[in-house]
Amino acid sequence: MLTENKFSKYLVLLVSMLIISTAAQAQNLVIKGGWMVNVKEGIAIENPGITIVAGKIYEIGSPSMEFPVLRLEDQDYILPGLIDLHSHYHVRYDGVTKTDTVVTPKLFLANGVTTTFTAGDPNPELILEFKNKVNRHEAIGPRILNSGPYFGTANSEWNQDYTKEDIYNIVDEWVAKGAQGFKAKGISYNHLKYLIERAHSYGLTVTSHLGYGVDSKDAIELGIDRVEHFLGGEMLLGESNPYVEIANLDMERDSERIDDAMDMFIEHGVYLNATIGTYGGWSRTDDEAFEYWTDEYKYLTPFTADSIKRTDTLQQNIQPTIAMVYENKKLLLKKYFDKGGRVTLGTDRPFYLDLNLGNYMNGFFVHREMEVMTEAGISNADVLKIATLNSAEAIGWGDRIGSIEVSKLADFMVIKGNPLDDIQNTRTVHTVIKGGIVFDSEEVLKQAEGKLGPVSETEW
Ligand SMILES: [Zn+2]
Repeated sequence: MLTENKFSKYLVLLVSMLIISTAAQAQNLVIKGGWMVNVKEGIAIENPGITIVAGKIYEIGSPSMEFPVLRLEDQDYILPGLIDLHSHYHVRYDGVTKTDTVVTPKLFLANGVTTTFTAGDPNPELILEFKNKVNRHEAIGPRILNSGPYFGTANSEWNQDYTKEDIYNIVDEWVAKGAQGFKAKGISYNHLKYLIERAHSYGLTVTSHLGYGVDSKDAIELGIDRVEHFLGGEMLLGESNPYVEIANLDMERDSERIDDAMDMFIEHGVYLNATIGTYGGWSRTDDEAFEYWTDEYKYLTPFTADSIKRTDTLQQNIQPTIAMVYENKKLLLKKYFDKGGRVTLGTDRPFYLDLNLGNYMNGFFVHREMEVMTEAGISNADVLKIATLNSAEAIGWGDRIGSIEVSKLADFMVIKGNPLDDIQNTRTVHTVIKGGIVFDSEEVLKQAEGKLGPVSETEW
């Protein structure tokens, strides 16, 4: 037995070395041992053997071909890679926003996130360039589904007088550049209408952060595919800031309008990207999901880590409202899910040092988001499905990613312990496979240490 163990460890090492050192092409591979989580059915079974050919799942079961073996241990669980539909790659300090392609992508990948949808890019050209680099295996990161520029006033170059042709042209331009969906924020009714018609003509989805004059009822009638953060619609009175209105909602007193808003989503099959944890992080909740299980500050430059620690109390004044938003979002999510609402996973953690939103790092946050959903009352099995298959389907990639099935891309994460028993087990990701390429999480994380944020007061 000892010899066999040693032998399998040697094989694992050999396979990892082969693939990580060349980091170029996916290698044909068989994954044996451990357990496999079927997110569709919410069960874990003994891994029957997964054969990967040319970056895709070729067969599940006794392998019919001889390839190098990645042998998992008895306590290893293999799951589909996680999908973050509200990922941000930017850092803002002293009013200047920069796109980070060095640390953030590695934190995502090492934490098991194999696909990210960038929900609005402040610098869409840079993300596009980085995405292409990742696709050519010249940089390390998750698969990036880029969204092009924000549609709406969140884009500093946005023109309120754009015509239908202008909107169509922007969509056309970004489809030609390979955008894989669009995100609106601060958009007018007509602009949203044109965006949705044009994006749908290409088979691409549209999501929006609403609450700037277009509510979710309008957006759903226009055919929107997903909505970020809040249900909106009938639920809110539109008399003040949406945050304040959500904070003040009472699940019983306001149940009629809450139900109306939810029914609208459910009837039209619109996905809610819950992004619930970010409000917990923002309001400094005591929920267990927000404890640190690893030193996240070590990925920051020393100056940045220090400045976050120093300014941690500056945002006290916004906390009570955000804390109530967070608590109400948990209640709303549970109710919406139980009614049959479609939910996806999004982290929404831009690294805003000036808003003091730098205390939790991207990548690690995906585990917090999943745990918060379970704290809201959704089962571990359902949360795992939300983080994988639901999110894949919501972006129109349900036939390519999101579950371990033949012909899908070989995107996996391997963790220690059954996540159906304890959702915190997802924090133990040690191996990530993306399109058949094997990454050692520890190795990837090591490359990200000490690099995020400004180097000094002046060097940014
Ligand atoms: Zn966001």
